[in-house]
Amino acid sequence: MADKTTGQCLCGAVKYEVTIPEKPFYSGLCHCKDCQRYTGTAFASSLMVPKADIKLDGELKFYGKETDRGTVMERGFCPDCGSNVLCQSNDWDDQYVLAAGTLDDQSLYKPQINIFTRSAVAHALDAGKLHQFEAFPESGE
Ligand SMILES: [Zn+2]
Ligand SMILES: [Zn+2]
Repeated sequence: MADKTTGQCLCGAVKYEVTIPEKPFYSGLCHCKDCQRYTGTAFASSLMVPKADIKLDGELKFYGKETDRGTVMERGFCPDCGSNVLCQSNDWDDQYVLAAGTLDDQSLYKPQINIFTRSAVAHALDAGKLHQFEAFPESGE
């Protein structure tokens, strides 16, 4: 069964309701250079959702950049807090690529694949092996 849920940007100016497809066309971690720069971190966690299944509340600002395939990836973010919320491209007219970190319930996001690993940074693929703290470590830990 498809899951209906909600999400929002960091400041809450952009919220959405979404029905997460049972089998998204794409659900994964993108290690491309553009996603690294855009997110400011090692990779982008995202999934594709039919545009008809997202109800947006709030205005996104879009930044378009040509990909190496000659299509344009338009990246939508909150103009107030800068959170990456969703992308669209003329590659997939009827789908948004939703930034999974904006989902209120992270347990609904089940990435299936890593893509563009040719530009992956080594620590991203080894992140699970790092020493773990439940919160910011106290000094001396
Ligand atoms: Zn915001
Ligand atoms: Zn990417």
